[in-house]
Formats: sequence, structure tokens, C-alpha cells
Amino acid sequence: INTQRRNITDFIYGLISVILCRAAYKKPDTRKEPLVSVLLVSYNRPEMVKEAIESVFNQTYQNFELIILDDNSNEETRRVIDQYLKNPKVRVYKSEVRDEDRWKMARYAVLINVGLEMAKGELISYLCDDDYYLPQRLEKMVKFLNEHPGVRVCYGRQLRLPVNKLRKPDRVLKKPRGFVDASSVMHYKSCVDELGNWDDVYYIPGADGPFWNKIGAKYPFYPIMEALDVRREHADSLTAKM
Ligand code: UDP
Ligand code: MG
Repeated sequence: INTQRRNITDFIYGLISVILCRAAYKKPDTRKEPLVSVLLVSYNRPEMVKEAIESVFNQTYQNFELIILDDNSNEETRRVIDQYLKNPKVRVYKSEVRDEDRWKMARYAVLINVGLEMAKGELISYLCDDDYYLPQRLEKMVKFLNEHPGVRVCYGRQLRLPVNKLRKPDRVLKKPRGFVDASSVMHYKSCVDELGNWDDVYYIPGADGPFWNKIGAKYPFYPIMEALDVRREHADSLTAKM
């Protein structure tokens, strides 16, 4: 009877390990084409926002929705954005912030939180109006995430203009605060559902930092060693003004 019982136990253990091994070696599904929600934050940069929008339309990966979050911009900027209203891939949110309230909060964080509520994609990707994507930004990131099923967040190496240098770093980050720029990041929406949104909206100089560290502590940021977006550094940016 003892041998019989041992045989049964062995058989059950064997079965469990086969199941566990199969799960561990499960091939990643590299053909998946998840919907990407691109959250574009815009304020008073009519020419640049047009370039940012066009850089999304020029992507080699086309399964995206573009959510334009405009922070009560001037007439000229609104006219540019309105040209895209009829596009089925585009949704627009216009804030009604008053100028006297503008500097009380990190406006982009407030808008991104609205965008996260609106987003229908399995993946979230960010873009600022003075930055733009290189054509393979979405394709390469989706491919990377498909090939690495355990990874929830990735970032590319940003090309900074006019210095014409690639942004560092290029390693796995658990504390990405200060090291990554929103326009270079893509993550699963599930991270936000689980850990919450950009909660530090009163932290004006770098409201993205606390969010990155919150997510990074559980889901490290994985680098893609290629420039996939371009950041313009100019006197008219929040960083320069702070
Ligand atoms: N922004 C905004 N409302 C404002 C000012 C800025 O939504 O009142 C947005 C702006 O459109 C941009 C983001 O905040 O997408 C970051 O601003 P900026 O590019 O000036 O800062 P940077 O990060 O480049 O220093
Ligand atoms: Mg900027």
C-alpha cells in the first residue's frame, strides 16, 4: 500500500512540475497587436503640437488611439487640434483651467490623469506637445513587451535636441525618477489599475517622478537601446522656467 501511495504522490508531483515548466517556458505571443492609448498633453504650441500629432499618425504600428489633452490653449492651437476631431482614432479633451489657477498644479499630471480615465488601450504611451515620436516608437515597444511577457514597463533612449545627444540611462530602473522622460515611456494600463495614477499633481517641478518610482518599485523599467522619440529642449519649457 505504501509503495502504491508513493507512486501516486510521485505521479502528482511529476504532473505539477510538468505544468509549472510549461507555464514558465510558455512561448511569448509576439504577434499580439494590443491597442495603444497615446496620451498627448498640449498647451499653446500650435506648430509643435501638429508635428507631435503627425508623428503619431506616421507610426509603423497603427493600432492606437490618440487622446489629445489640451489645457485650454489659445485659438491658434485649438484650430490645429480641431482639424483632427473627425479622425476616428482621435479623441480630444479640452480643460477649462483658468489662467490664475494654472500654476497651482502640475497641469500635465492633471491632464494625464484625465487621459488615463479615458484610455481604452491595453498599453499607455505618453507624448508632450514639444516632443515627437520617431516612426518605429510604438512598433518597437509593442514588440519588446510581447517578447518579454514578464515586463510591464519599457522606455526608449530619447534623442535630445538641439544638443543632439541620447538621453541616459540604458539599464533596468527600479527608481526611474529623474532618469526617464514621459515621452519615452510605455506601460501596461494594468499598472495604473493596480497601483494608481499620477497622484502627485501638486508637485509641480516633476510630478512624473513619484509616479515612475511607485510603478518602478514593483515593475522595473526596461530599456530599449534605441532612440525612439525626440525631445526639444528650449527656453519656453517648464523645466527651463523652474
Ligand atoms: N502644459 C500644460 N499646461 C500648462 C503648461 C504646460 O498642460 O499650463 C503641458 C505642456 O503642453 C507639455 C507638458 O505640460 O506637454 C510639459 O511642459 P513643457 O514641455 O513646457 O516642459 P518640459 O518637460 O519640456 O520641461
Ligand atoms: Mg517639453
